[in-house]
Amino acid sequence: MNAEPSPSRSISSHLRLTMSVCRGAWRHAARIALDIALPTLCVACREPVHGDGVCADCWAKLSFIAPPFCPRLGIPFVYDPGPGLLSMEAISDPPAYERARAAVRYDDVARTLVHALKYQDRTDLAPAMGRWMARAGRELIGEADALIPVPLHWRRGWSRRYGALARVIEQQTGAKVVSEALRRVRPTQQQIGLSRAQRASNVQGAFKVAPDRQSEIQGRRVVLIDDVLTSGATVDACARALLRAKAAKVDVLVFARVVDTYKAPI
Ligand SMILES: [Zn+2]
Repeated sequence: MNAEPSPSRSISSHLRLTMSVCRGAWRHAARIALDIALPTLCVACREPVHGDGVCADCWAKLSFIAPPFCPRLGIPFVYDPGPGLLSMEAISDPPAYERARAAVRYDDVARTLVHALKYQDRTDLAPAMGRWMARAGRELIGEADALIPVPLHWRRGWSRRYGALARVIEQQTGAKVVSEALRRVRPTQQQIGLSRAQRASNVQGAFKVAPDRQSEIQGRRVVLIDDVLTSGATVDACARALLRAKAAKVDVLVFARVVDTYKAPI
């Protein structure tokens, strides 16, 4: 009976392999199920966390933007130059919007948070991110008549996740969200990998206030809400569209902004 050990060994090793694959698949499925069942895993490091979706260690790694910064663009300064002094960028290339503020610098942890909200449907992160934004944009929101989320790409589902940040800020501050008034009138290429000039031309004329919604913009002070500010080309194009619709003023509030280096005032 045991004259041919090889096939049985082969069958048993095949079985072992199959079981191991199954175990791997099961572990993978269990991991996914756990992730769904426990949305309070830290989004950055996957450690269990209570509350905001970011553990204390990762929270400590977030780089919150605090004064001193450029009063126009919100770019952090290394030292306080005194009231009213602007960054070089604000003087050499002033945007269409009045002021920009961001909660944090766009670094690894910030990127993970933005991507989790944007692509993994982690809307449970929105309350914390929105709260940090509301704090960073307190001055802007205090003067605002309307919060307007930057309109997204046509891909379905994204607007709900984006709207999430603006809705949280609305709940926390009482400023009203005006959605769908500002629209993307043509699809744009992803801004990633484009130069500053390419980014600007990519989004030029891409946004428009719907004619039947102009009355909701005219004469009003608007705060544009977005997740990340890189070159500012997108929010600048949005601001131009809002100003064409006779908005009184446009400010910008984002979760994270790219900061190349520590900027000294001129
Ligand atoms: Zn963590």
